[in-house]
Amino acid sequence: MRIGVPKEIKNHEYRVGLIPASVAEYVRQGHVVAVQAGAGEGSAIPDERYVEAGAMILPSAEAVWESSDMIVKVKEPMAPEYGLMQKGQLVYTYFHLAAVPELAEVLLERQVRAVAYETIQLPDGRLPLLEPMSEVAGRMAIQVGARCLEREHGGKGVLLGGVPGVARAKVVILGGGVVGTNAAKMAVGMGAQVTIVDLNLNRLRYLDDIFGSKIQTMHSNVGTIYDQVLNADLVVGAVLIPGAKAPHLVTRDHISQMQEGSVVVDVSVDQGGCIATCHPTTHEDPTYVVDGVVHYCVANMPGAVARTSTFALNNTTLGYGLALASKGFEQAVKDDPALALGVNTYKGQCVYKAVAEALDVEY
Ligand code: NAD
Repeated sequence: MRIGVPKEIKNHEYRVGLIPASVAEYVRQGHVVAVQAGAGEGSAIPDERYVEAGAMILPSAEAVWESSDMIVKVKEPMAPEYGLMQKGQLVYTYFHLAAVPELAEVLLERQVRAVAYETIQLPDGRLPLLEPMSEVAGRMAIQVGARCLEREHGGKGVLLGGVPGVARAKVVILGGGVVGTNAAKMAVGMGAQVTIVDLNLNRLRYLDDIFGSKIQTMHSNVGTIYDQVLNADLVVGAVLIPGAKAPHLVTRDHISQMQEGSVVVDVSVDQGGCIATCHPTTHEDPTYVVDGVVHYCVANMPGAVARTSTFALNNTTLGYGLALASKGFEQAVKDDPALALGVNTYKGQCVYKAVAEALDVEY
């Protein structure tokens, strides 16, 4: 199969669909890979690395889209790319189609076979192609939280790990899923006093098993959240109710009672946020202050560490991508129900129920 990797064109998107090691795997399995010149720049991967891995470099997005049976990307195709999609082409990327009905129309009209990273789902309900980005965001939450706690960034001037003779900072993590667990790992590593609050008791048991006495686990309820948040130096919002808006666990009243210079990092802002005072911010202007509390609410945190994110993404996208290319779309989807759930549009039909409902198109 001919595989194409265009340069991402979404604003401030620095990731790239394939890393050279992935290219080498496709080539080893007999595929031809074309990479747009400069596609890896944002992730610090020069064109030469792709050539060494066996790819050819094409000068333009047009050349890549035109010459490929399957496109491997990161973000959904943007308006300038709509016209480049070939009839029946296989496009393997994040789509989040419910949010871009005009793209869905183009996919249906051009009969594009759209395989969406975000809807590939394992039998136990896990979303393996979203997990790496949650891992990145969870770890970053502590890195940015620590920075925001510094005086010059508006924080109260507290070091997460304290020093001998001075108290450690108190970090409260709301939601102990993938983001929360990764945040806890970093916070524990930096020597903070860490509490994880979750609704799911089995999850708390698991966290207690793996972290032992290095963390405190607390069951999520209004009283716990009030007590924990009021005394926190850093609160990380990491809850998720799949398919729903995040619940506002931290209210405006909580925020106004927190110590001045405390910090909240709401990673769940992409689902509306679990802190009532949060609204989405960008990497250019990531923070704002409400009642003296510094808020960091960047909706695409992994973008700041594009190279790590690109490599993490490739670790999980490669297997499914190779199956699509080597077995062929029909066989690969037949063989793997998890991959089958990734198919959003096929032969001019929307074949993913929730997306069809959101777009109000035939399923
Ligand atoms: P996850 O499903 O692994 O974990 C969510 C956890 O929240 C679960 O353990 C669940 O039990 C818990 N929870 C649900 N309701 C709760 C409540 N009322 N109180 C306490 N805990 C509760 O999800 P995840 O992968 O960790 O993702 C968390 C959020 O981070 C999602 O909204 C995700 O989209 C977002 N995210 C944002 C970015 C970003 O750049 N901002 C990046 C990656 C993920």
